Parts: sequence; C-alpha cells; structure tokens
Amino acid sequence: MNPQVIATAARVGGEALRLASSGEEREGFAHRVEIVLLIATGLILTALTVCFLTFSAVITGLGGGKAVGFRSGSPTAFAVADIPAQYLPVFLRAQDRYGVSWAVLAAICKVESRFQPDPGTSEAAAVGFMQFMPSTFDQYRQDGDSDGTFDPCNPWDAVFTAANMLMANGYAEDPRKAVFSYNHADWYVNRVMDIAAQYSSTVLPAGKGIWPLPAGHVQVLSGYGTRLHPFLHMYHFHDGMDIPAPEGTAVFAVQDGNVDWDREKGGYGLCVVLDHGGCRTLYAHLSGVAVRSGERVRAGQTVGYVGSTGLSTGPHLHFSVYVNGQPCNPEEWLAAPSGNS
Ligand SMILES: [Zn+2]
Repeated sequence: MNPQVIATAARVGGEALRLASSGEEREGFAHRVEIVLLIATGLILTALTVCFLTFSAVITGLGGGKAVGFRSGSPTAFAVADIPAQYLPVFLRAQDRYGVSWAVLAAICKVESRFQPDPGTSEAAAVGFMQFMPSTFDQYRQDGDSDGTFDPCNPWDAVFTAANMLMANGYAEDPRKAVFSYNHADWYVNRVMDIAAQYSSTVLPAGKGIWPLPAGHVQVLSGYGTRLHPFLHMYHFHDGMDIPAPEGTAVFAVQDGNVDWDREKGGYGLCVVLDHGGCRTLYAHLSGVAVRSGERVRAGQTVGYVGSTGLSTGPHLHFSVYVNGQPCNPEEWLAAPSGNS
C-alpha cells in the first residue's frame, strides 16, 4: 500500500490526540476520532482504487486486442491423471500438425465421449471418440493414423478431424468461436476452455520466436513461474524470464510485429512491447529504446538495449510473452539462440 497515505493518516490521528489532551477539546474527542477515521478510510480507498486502475491498465495494455488461437504447453499432473496415457500422444501430435491446442482437443474429447473411442451413437446421432455427426465427419475427415480409412471411432482419425474442423472454423483467429462451431452453446465453450486450462497451465503462441539477445547471452537467471521476489522477500508469480547481459547489449524483436509501447511501465522500467498479431512480447528494464510506438519491426531487429531500469537488481533483460492477455512460458516457445549474431 501507499506508505504516504498511511503516514498522513497517522499524522492526522496524532494531531487529534494532542488536541484532545487539552481540557476543552476532550469532550469532542470521540467525534473527532470518528471524522479522522472516516477521512483516513477515504484516503486509503482512493489509493487502493488508483493502484487497482493502474494495475488493470498495465495488464490490459499487455493483453489487449482480440482473442487469437494458441497452443498449450506441457500437461499438468491433473492432465496426466485424467487423460488415458495411450491417448495423450494423439492430442499432442494433433497440436503439432494443426496448430490447435492439444488441451482444447482433449477437453472436447472428455466432454464428448469421456475418452471412449466408441461410446455408442448419441441421441443426436453423433458417433465416435469426438462425437461427430456423420455428415460433419465426412466434411472434415482426416486419416490420422494413415491406415487408408477414415473412422470416427479411431482416436487418431477422430482427433485429427476435430483439429482440422477447428482450424477450418477460424481457431487461429478466435478459439472460442471455433469451439462454438463444435456445439452451439456458450456453456459448452466455457466448459471446454475451463478443462483445457486445467490440462495445461501454459498457453503458447502459434509459431516460434527467435532468442531476444545475442548468442553469448543464453543463461536464464530466473525463469517463468513462482519464485521468491528479490526485493519484497515473498513468493510471487514471475511472468517472464530474466537473462543477464551487460548494459547496452542489443535486444532483438523475436518475431515480426508492430511496436505497441516504447517508454516507462512501472516496475518494468523502460520497456518495449511488440504486438505480433498472435501474441505480445515485452522487453523490460532497458537502458534505451531503438524503436517508436506504431513502427513496424522485423524479427531480429534491435528494439532496445539491456539496462537495469525499474525494479531490477542489475543489468538483465526481462522478457515476457502474452497470449490473449495470459502470460506464457517464453522458454517453451523461443527457438534456441544459435542463429543470433
Ligand atoms: Zn523478470
């Protein structure tokens, strides 16, 4: 909380006490304390609101824009326990082939058939592992196991067909809309997305990014996830990765994109945010920026220089990736840094 507000409230409270200790003031003391408390509460609420709005603005600024397709990261313990082991590779392979989140495909399968390849024909005449209407299956059918047949009760064929259908229905532009095409109900979309979020806590942008620093600077000092904060000495969520490098080292755009931000941003210090369409990347604690908001940049272009501005213990690059406003683990997405000079 804002220490100035608390200090002010304490000073006002102390003044009231001093006044109240003189004889004639004593009667009104209780009433004065009430007023002081009301003022202090008002100040604290105002400060809280300002903090919240600032925080929201930072988060929204990074997330922003319309929803875009995404892939999912490694399976959670819940996913490994919930998804039959023989089917997990089917969903993962479908993600590689079609760029559709394996977790979304697995979540649809759970809701549709509870991972039964042949659960029998439903009331609505849907069939197989992913519960397709026969006409829909024929329209999007894929031979996932390359055995020369198209079988909705074969998990490989059914999951690959579902991925193909989601892509055809705009998954890359809007995953929720694509899932809606599977079953036209909002509760269905919410259910699928909730389960998908439990199957994998990380989302990944489509495609790959190059390493944001020259090849000599590859060691990640602090990775993505929960860690002990260096200043606050409490556990907090680290939404990116920290790569130490000398002050002034060039920082590269990891993909083609548009510059969205080119100045100070709270604890991140001086930073650059790029919008890549499918995701946003943040380059923080810079000593200088080399691009302007609105400018178009190419992958590998220098966007700024390593520094230690904002909340930082020494020169390093803090790098974050956001997909649909959610931070994702950059290490699962960035290409090895060998190609950078
Ligand atoms: Zn960091």
